[in-house]
Amino acid sequence: QMAGKTQQGERREVELGDYDFAESPEYRQLQRTLALADNVGLQNPYFTIHQGVTNDRTMINGRQMVNFCSYNYLGMSGDPLVVAAAQNATARYGTSVSASRLVSGEKPLHGQLESAIANFLGAEAAITMVGGHATNETTIGHLFGPGDLILHDALSHNSIVQGCKLSGAHRRAFPHSDPLACRDLLARYRHEYRRVLIVIEGVYSMDGDIAPLPEFVELKEEFKAYLMVDEAHSLGTIGPGGHGIASHYDIDAKRIDILMGTMSKSLGSCGGYIAARREIVEYLKYTAPGFVYSVGLPPANTAAALASLRQIELQPERVVRLQENSALFLSLANEAGLDTGASRGTPVVPVITGSSESALRLSDRLFRSGINVQPILYPAVEDHAARLRFFITSDHTPEQIREAVSLTAKHSQELGCGNSAA
Ligand code: PMP
Repeated sequence: QMAGKTQQGERREVELGDYDFAESPEYRQLQRTLALADNVGLQNPYFTIHQGVTNDRTMINGRQMVNFCSYNYLGMSGDPLVVAAAQNATARYGTSVSASRLVSGEKPLHGQLESAIANFLGAEAAITMVGGHATNETTIGHLFGPGDLILHDALSHNSIVQGCKLSGAHRRAFPHSDPLACRDLLARYRHEYRRVLIVIEGVYSMDGDIAPLPEFVELKEEFKAYLMVDEAHSLGTIGPGGHGIASHYDIDAKRIDILMGTMSKSLGSCGGYIAARREIVEYLKYTAPGFVYSVGLPPANTAAALASLRQIELQPERVVRLQENSALFLSLANEAGLDTGASRGTPVVPVITGSSESALRLSDRLFRSGINVQPILYPAVEDHAARLRFFITSDHTPEQIREAVSLTAKHSQELGCGNSAA
C-alpha cells in the first residue's frame, strides 16, 4: 500500500495491485479475448502475415487466397503507375521530409496533393496529415473545446470519439443515422453552447450503410452547427466518379463544414485529410498539434495519393466496376438468405452470423476453402451482431464474388449460423 491523495486533497491509502502489468485486469481481459479462438480449436485470426500486395487476392503462407480483407477499394495500392509515382518521389525527395512542414518539411508534392483533394471534392482548400486516425483526433480535439457540444453518431469510429475526448467539449452520441434524435438534442441544448459540432460518416465501416446527409445538412443550417463528415469509406466508392457523399446526394460539398477522409483506402496510400473552407484549413496548418508537431507526409505516400486521385479521374470505370461488384455481392448474398444488415450498395458488406464463435468458425471454413475474410467479434461489436466483414474491390471478378457468396451460404447453413440460412 502507498499513500495517495483523493480529489479533495485528503490523504488515503491506495492499492498497488496493478504494479505487475501481466496481472492487471486490462491484460487479463485481452488474454480472455484471445483465448476465444483457442477455446474452439481455431487459430488466432489476428496479425496474419500477407506476403505481397493485398487486393482481390493475397498470399498467405505461400498460398494464393481470394481476399475480402483489404480496403484497397480501387486497386491503387500495387497499381504500376501509383508504385512508379511513389518510387520517383522517393528517389527525388528521399524517404522522409525530415521535419514538420511548417518549419522545413514542405515539398511541392504536398501542395499539389492538397489542391487535387480540394478540387476532387469541390471544397475550398485541404490539409493532409500523416495518419487518418490522427487527423480526426487532432482536428476535433483542436477545433472544439470546453463550452462546445459535440453530437456524434453512436457508431462513430474510434478516432472521432478520441478526438471528442481530447477536445474537452461536452459529447453526446445520438442513435445511429437518426437525424430526428439529433434534432431533439439540438433543440434542447443548442442555446447552452458557443459552438455545436455534428459528426457523421459517409459510409459506416462496420455496416456499409450510407449516412442520410441531406437531413443532417438541413439540421446544421437550421441550428447553426458545424457538420463534419468522415469519408474514410465513401471517398472513391460512392457518388458518380467516386466523388463521395456530397456527390452521391448531389449536394454542394461547401455546405459541409469539415470533410475528413483517409488516403489509406481508395487512394492506396497512408494519411488523412481535412477539406474545408480556407480559414479552417489555414488555422489547422498553423496550429493543429497533430500537424504542427508532427512530420510532414512522406514523399512516397504523398505521390501515391496524388497519382491515385489522377487515376480515379482518368479511369472512372474503376469506380463503376467497384459499384457494380458491390451491388452484385449484396444481391447474391441476399438471394442466398445471408443477413447483410444495413449495407446498401457500398463495398462494405457484413454477413452477420449471430455469435462470435460462429463468425470465427465460418471465417475458418472459408479460409480453408481459399477465401480470406475477417471475423468481427465481441467486443468490437455485440456478440449477437458478430459478423464476417467483406470488403469488395474493383479488381474482384464476378466469378470470385459468386464463389465467395455461394461458399459463405453453404458453410453458414452447415454451421447453423444465426440468421443466415435461407
Ligand atoms: N475513420 C474511419 C471511419 C475509419 O474506418 C478509419 C480506419 N479504418 C479511420 C478514420 C482512420 O484512418 P487510417 O486507417 O487511415 O488511419
